[in-house]
Amino acid sequence: SAKPVQVKLVLLGEAAVGKSSLVLRFVNNEFSENKEPTIGAAFLTQKCRLEDNKVIKFEIWDTAGQERFHSLAPMYYRNAQAAVVVYDVTKAASLDKAKSWVKELQRQANPNIVIALAGNKIDLVEPQDDSEVLSNIFREVPTEEARAYALEAGLLFFETSAKKGEGVVNVFTEIAKKIPVE
Ligand code: GDP
Ligand code: MG
Repeated sequence: SAKPVQVKLVLLGEAAVGKSSLVLRFVNNEFSENKEPTIGAAFLTQKCRLEDNKVIKFEIWDTAGQERFHSLAPMYYRNAQAAVVVYDVTKAASLDKAKSWVKELQRQANPNIVIALAGNKIDLVEPQDDSEVLSNIFREVPTEEARAYALEAGLLFFETSAKKGEGVVNVFTEIAKKIPVE
């Protein structure tokens, strides 16, 4: 059937890792270099049609910057069926923060929640073409280290660039495939 299955999805992760940018890329196929932090709660929807014609309608809850104050209420992720926990591949500390969110979700959220770990900003560590200024930003989180953690913790794993659009749709499509339909 083509009746959409509604799925509440939350974004978690340290401030400035690119949560809002990933959502904007997925929903509007847009990116903005100097994004203002979200003011107020952001709620966006986007559908995902799968090969078997199953349609998932994501109700995406983006934080209003509360993550800066470590004050995200459990009511933010209560009843969420999916979560994307984001870190920045150029900031090792952001993976530690992601791990603490995963722990909290696994302790306190819906036991069937589908969790994806996304290492964002891979464009910053990809080979640059000659016309671009060489950056002094380096990868701090090796892909295989994060993948091994994700496997052990039972998470889907992706690396993404909200800036270039790499891997972004895939995050949501793979989550959609794992949502149980009754
Ligand atoms: P949030 O606080 O986690 O929601 O992060 P934002 O989406 O507001 O992004 C924080 C900053 O990182 C902004 O300046 C974005 O333009 C930038 N940013 C987000 N995603 C990427 C990415 O994939 N690559 C690069 N180079 N910058 C990004
Ligand atoms: Mg944000």
